[in-house]
Amino acid sequence: MHFESTEKFAQQTDEQDSLRHFREKFYIPKQSNGEDVLYFTGNSLGLQPKTTREYIEQELKDWETLGVEGHFHAKNPWMPYHEFLTEQMANIVGGKPIETVVMNSLTVNLHLLMVSFYRPTAERYKIIIEGDAFPSDQYAIKSQIEFHKFDVEDALIELKPRENETILRTEEIVKTIEENGDSLALVMLGGVNYYTGQAFDMRAITEAGHKVGAIIGFDLAHAAGNLELKLHDWNVDFACWCSYKYLNSGPGGIAGIFVHERHSESFDLPRFAGWWGHDKESRFLMDDEFVPMKGAEGWQLSNPPIFQLAALKASLDIFEEAGGMKHLTEKSRELTSYMEFLLNEIHDERISIITPSNPNERGCQLSIRVKNSDKSLFEAITEKGVIADWREPDVIRVAPVPLYNSFMDVYKFVEILNNCLT
Ligand SMILES: *Cc1c(COP(=O)(O)O)cnc(C)c1O
Repeated sequence: MHFESTEKFAQQTDEQDSLRHFREKFYIPKQSNGEDVLYFTGNSLGLQPKTTREYIEQELKDWETLGVEGHFHAKNPWMPYHEFLTEQMANIVGGKPIETVVMNSLTVNLHLLMVSFYRPTAERYKIIIEGDAFPSDQYAIKSQIEFHKFDVEDALIELKPRENETILRTEEIVKTIEENGDSLALVMLGGVNYYTGQAFDMRAITEAGHKVGAIIGFDLAHAAGNLELKLHDWNVDFACWCSYKYLNSGPGGIAGIFVHERHSESFDLPRFAGWWGHDKESRFLMDDEFVPMKGAEGWQLSNPPIFQLAALKASLDIFEEAGGMKHLTEKSRELTSYMEFLLNEIHDERISIITPSNPNERGCQLSIRVKNSDKSLFEAITEKGVIADWREPDVIRVAPVPLYNSFMDVYKFVEILNNCLT
């Protein structure tokens, strides 16, 4: 698309956008003057679909009128409720239904999957992560290493960009994988780095890791609902993600996991067990021998929180109605490229974009580095109705999401930023 830095261009592009009506399906928070805020933190907490309330109210109503009978006789029976989300969630990440289940929260799932997929031995025990991985992932991974009585200093390999660069080159990641070869147990990266917005080449990383005999896992917190993913085809071993960022399930919403089909009957893998992962046919016989279900469902522990499932279902129905990730990423690329185009027109040395400029190496987020870590710029745009976020030491993150952000949002944001710089 050929971009222009005029308000008219932004307006016209919105008019031609086949997804523009999806904005009306969400509550947009208001400024004190009654205008919509410019909301660019869908990467942190997605907005509330207007239908979420009725989805949850349906379950409240069935609980009110049916009590325990709701497990079988609710409009959407609670016993199999999580299954109603499986296919849609599988579509979001490019997995098969047998490979996908909605359960728990993200860090919990990361631990559960590492119990099965991080099986260090004296020879093969190392884990590769991003140097600036999200803190919860760092804590989880370090604690797993210590749990197995290995030394974090020795076992943890942190990828760092080259000097004077901010993003990781795929060839360097592959080189690190090859260098550690036989001692490498696990590669555990984010699909999209939360700080820089860099999307990793998951296919190439998985291939390189498998070549040396390692297991490959991804944390897709910033990728699920943002990129078009093909976890099955890419041959990824396992993945986990949260659903309250791009997937709009509400604060602390229920998370998801992917376990590749080739592990679906690996019942010899050690796992922490609970009754919801037990074979469905015999679950209520309350036998004391654990018989895991095939596929991702076999990693479930508890009967799931129905209100959270209902909230996530409301949002997944919107993703489906919008034509899925392929369609959404088409708009996403235009929207983010438009923001990049307008930012580059500013020509002010106090700001620079650290997110890769190649659309194949990012999702919708742009990370704007502010010279001398000057937080006053962030405070000034916040004052003018922009909801973005500041990440220490020096980055403003903005994520225009295709479901509810418009080209006019992007135009207004850059205008405000520009005014605050002059
Ligand atoms: C958001 C995020 C988390 C948050 O973990 P919770 O268990 O949901 O609190 C963890 N890791 C990454 C990479 C994230 O982006």
